[in-house]
Amino acid sequence: LNERIVVENPDDEFGHMARVLNGLLARLGESFEKLQHFTSDVSHELRTPLASIRSVGEVGLQEEHSAERYRDIIGSMLEEVARLTGMIDTLLTIAQADSGEVDLHRTTFVFAELVQESVTVVSVLAEDKKQNILVTGESELEISADRGFLRMAVINLLDNAVKYSPPESTIRVTLRDHKDTEGTAESVAVAIEDEGPGIPEDKRERVFDRFYRVDEGRTRDVGGAGLGLAIAKWAVEAHGGTITLKPRAPRGAIFSVEIPVR
Ligand code: ADP
Repeated sequence: LNERIVVENPDDEFGHMARVLNGLLARLGESFEKLQHFTSDVSHELRTPLASIRSVGEVGLQEEHSAERYRDIIGSMLEEVARLTGMIDTLLTIAQADSGEVDLHRTTFVFAELVQESVTVVSVLAEDKKQNILVTGESELEISADRGFLRMAVINLLDNAVKYSPPESTIRVTLRDHKDTEGTAESVAVAIEDEGPGIPEDKRERVFDRFYRVDEGRTRDVGGAGLGLAIAKWAVEAHGGTITLKPRAPRGAIFSVEIPVR
């Protein structure tokens, strides 16, 4: 795919055609390279939990253990299985999204209720870290959207805020309705602010890429696959919405989502 068509006279019709074709070839080459990276990243990511299931299983078989120890072993194997399942589900959704096969199952619901429900889902993790999730702002608008996909997007953002910010910190969730000058509903918005390390400016674009992690060391302990933001961005954009990232002063990140009412 690195072949290029060479012509003698770039100004005649053949020269023009060759330029068009070379442009196409270059784009095809890029897509092909991305696909290759994606495939090797996927294989790598799937191997990590598999390797850990295997080694935990081997430890279990090496000698006799107490019943309690066996329970721990099975528990950690099941945790890895859950991680693997989650990753495969996400990958399937991404693959469907790529091929344009995903239908949005739109229903009408109050966006603020979905956000509140997502906060409840992550609050168990936040409590473990003694973090406080504070929901403020006014929002009453209904939207017509795919509830499952948007819920996944909001949960991913909240989950990151919890994972990457320190114990006993506060996560602020702010809701807002946008209306035009005549008061007609336009969009709903939610901002999620944390007091974590934030994301360096030169990495802010890339955090939305698949498998991208800002700092392998930092994220390895919390065990992310680098897919959460990619899938959140896809889900938001599939609704014609936007997802943005801004730094927070003095530290932390602010992820904002805005979804048009229809
Ligand atoms: P992961 O599964 O690794 O969390 P994501 O796609 O959700 O993957 O996020 C990509 C990377 O962006 C993370 O690995 C992390 O380095 C960084 N990141 C995401 N959210 C935050 C946040 N709230 N604060 C700091 N870094 C973050």
